[in-house]
Amino acid sequence: MAESVDAIVVGAGLAGLSAARQLAIHGVDVIVLESSDDVGGRVRTDRFDGLQLDRGFQLFNPAYPEAARVLDYEALDLKPFVPGVIVARAGGRSTRLGDPRRKPGWAIDAIGPATGSLLSKARFAKLAWQASRTPVGTITRSPDSTTGEKLRAAGIDERFIEQVLRPFLTGVFLEQDLATSRRFLDLVLRSFVRGVPSVPARGMQAIPEQLRDALPAGTVRLNSPASHVTATSVTAGGKSFSARAVIVATDPTTAGSLLTGVTVPGGNSVTTWYHLAPVDPKSLTGGDAVLVVDGDRRGPVINSVVISHAAPAYADGGRVLVSTSTLGTRDSADDEASVRAHLEALYGTETSDWTRVGAYAIPYALPAMLPPLDVRKPVDLGDGLFVAGDHRDTASIQGAMVSGRRAADAVLAHLGVRQCGARLGA
Ligand SMILES: Cc1cc2nc3c(=O)[nH]c(=O)nc-3n(C[C@H](O)[C@H](O)[C@H](O)COP(=O)(O)OP(=O)(O)OC[C@H]3O[C@@H](n4cnc5c(N)ncnc54)[C@H](O)[C@@H]3O)c2cc1C
Repeated sequence: MAESVDAIVVGAGLAGLSAARQLAIHGVDVIVLESSDDVGGRVRTDRFDGLQLDRGFQLFNPAYPEAARVLDYEALDLKPFVPGVIVARAGGRSTRLGDPRRKPGWAIDAIGPATGSLLSKARFAKLAWQASRTPVGTITRSPDSTTGEKLRAAGIDERFIEQVLRPFLTGVFLEQDLATSRRFLDLVLRSFVRGVPSVPARGMQAIPEQLRDALPAGTVRLNSPASHVTATSVTAGGKSFSARAVIVATDPTTAGSLLTGVTVPGGNSVTTWYHLAPVDPKSLTGGDAVLVVDGDRRGPVINSVVISHAAPAYADGGRVLVSTSTLGTRDSADDEASVRAHLEALYGTETSDWTRVGAYAIPYALPAMLPPLDVRKPVDLGDGLFVAGDHRDTASIQGAMVSGRRAADAVLAHLGVRQCGARLGA
């Protein structure tokens, strides 16, 4: 006989866990069916041999409104990165650009003309500051265009765009054409000004683990791939479950195959490489946990960072762990050789003795956020069937979490459960 509950959530990524949390705190009997062997979805961390390797380099911004409302930051023990970037250039030159409130010592580099005019830098700083002061609702309703169009319309010169903004934003959007919606750019800039990108000391997966641990025991059922979904039933791993509401909180592609009427956006892909560098830690970026990008785009690397500078537990025993990302899903030995050569240029040091300890090729890391971007896509598909996931909001931890709560709130309304506590954040 089918197991019967009030609500079923399919998928234990951040969207699904956030939905389950909201339902559970309102007394709804909910289970989460997850196809893989652990929670987190795209936010997983492999822990072995004293290393912590996130499955794809990513950063958490504590200014994300939904995360700030829900997560216990103290328990996550967030390790901040330098809010800035080192732009490496041919000939061994490099420029350090950062938030002057937090890295005043880098101001001299920022003033220099090597990476664009001071006026362009001031104009970009103004854009970011304005975005940080603008309510989310205003950003999401503003006229949309591509990021490239927005930057040029703001009078930012090509040198600053090509040498700094395009290399930097490629790592954020996982696309290099600056085709991403200016609405999404504004939301990203807003969180950069308001918060310092960080990783939890125990790896990015500590975020979904915290959400799971707050759920009643037995809520999450691992190794349970859903193969068929209706508004009142789910078949998963050969078992049947019945419910009064079902939320599909899978990755976008699976949501598109389980549900009708859900459009799947194109996906941006990435490969993240991890190397142990047998060097004095201070010899790489002076011991700062800061992104390094290539202003001259001389190779496949879109960004690299010494992640152990921020969070030493990522490589115990004082080892130096470098995380490097490239666009696409190429992870052959030849690809690694060109990554290693590019790293040599970026860090200005020999890399032949660096040890590769991991590589993660992720075909669908982020849903493309192309204009015109609808930042609040419907989550209620009717009759008790709901959908959540970053593809309903924005391609981010914030987007996934807020989509889960929106779907859960819609389920509460469907079940006639009165809401308590705070309302949906930005
Ligand atoms: C490499 C990379 C870098 C990123 N960088 C950042 C960043 O710096 N900052 C940021 O904010 N965000 C970043 N993101 C985005 C962020 O991680 C995602 O937006 C978010 O994790 C998506 O969560 P989700 O719950 O919507 O989907 P997912 O994490 O994809 O979760 C879906 C879950 O559903 C499960 N599932 C799939 N099919 C089934 C099925 N049939 N039955 C049951 N379960 C199923 C999956 O196993 C998975 O656990 C990055 C993502 C990647 C991959």
